[in-house]
Amino acid sequence: MSARIIDGKAVAARVRAEVAEGVKAFEAEHGRVPGLATILVGEDPASQVYVGGKQKACAEAGIAGFDHRPPGDASHEQIAALIGELNDDAAVNGILLQLPVPDHLDGPALVELIDPGKDVDGLTSRSAGRLIQGAPGLRPCTPSGVIELLDDTGVELEGAQAVVIGRSMLVGKPVALLLQERNATVTMCHSRTRDLPAVARSADVLVVAAGVPRLVTADYVKPGATVIDVGMHRLEDGLCGDVDFGSVAEVAGAITPVPGGVGPMTIAFLLRNTLAAAHAAGALARQN
Ligand code: NAD
Repeated sequence: MSARIIDGKAVAARVRAEVAEGVKAFEAEHGRVPGLATILVGEDPASQVYVGGKQKACAEAGIAGFDHRPPGDASHEQIAALIGELNDDAAVNGILLQLPVPDHLDGPALVELIDPGKDVDGLTSRSAGRLIQGAPGLRPCTPSGVIELLDDTGVELEGAQAVVIGRSMLVGKPVALLLQERNATVTMCHSRTRDLPAVARSADVLVVAAGVPRLVTADYVKPGATVIDVGMHRLEDGLCGDVDFGSVAEVAGAITPVPGGVGPMTIAFLLRNTLAAAHAAGALARQN
């Protein structure tokens, strides 16, 4: 194996420690800590684990957690009213609606009700619009984590050829925009891209978020390229990503493992966004 392994756990731990320091400084200045409200509708076991992890991470960073768990048969109006209350609550700086919501609810419509200043997942259309415009705003967590990992490797993004495989609103599109913001030359690939291996091989930086286990093999990768694997799959032989780690590690210059690569970054950036939202709310309050 020749590639350097990018240690997402270590980078996430560093970001979380920085947030914890920032929370202390915020408390010293404002006399209160930032707050994150999570909303989990129903009792989906996987979502319970995710939300539990987010609340635990909040506590470790010194952020106040508000854990809302409406029943699985809660109506659109009830969840909308809860989001409205949290929008108006000055102790709450971030609001996260855990997705997916039960089938009778319209998840994207509910997400749209979140105040963009508290949209710490960066998923509302207003946050997406600000990202497209290059205007300040809260950026989605996993894509921000991808950029942080790239920065940690020291790879020069300015002028680099970057290829993103996947064009979802959650990962591929925002990653491509964030790479452009950093002056990379970005190509976006998707399920209808012709000769994907050839396009991928043009990349100095290859970000893979296709949702297809081990799609990217060594023949997709330019020797020495930096490869970030966003994919996450639980297969019979264990966890794997969208990249065939064994063969790609032979040609890449640096690569994220699964698990322990992009995964830990998402929660770290949820905390960082909550602190940033608290600072922005503090600045707004001073203006008023
Ligand atoms: P998605 O299914 O919404 O989007 C997949 C994208 O990949 C689509 O744009 C599609 O066009 C493209 N695609 C599908 N098959 C392809 C192929 N054969 N060749 C080229 N492009 C192809 O998925 P998503 O929400 O963007 O998530 C992608 C992966 O990242 C999933 O494995 C998901 O579990 C993982 N994920 C991980 C984290 C995390 O680590 N925190 C967060 C979000 C998503």
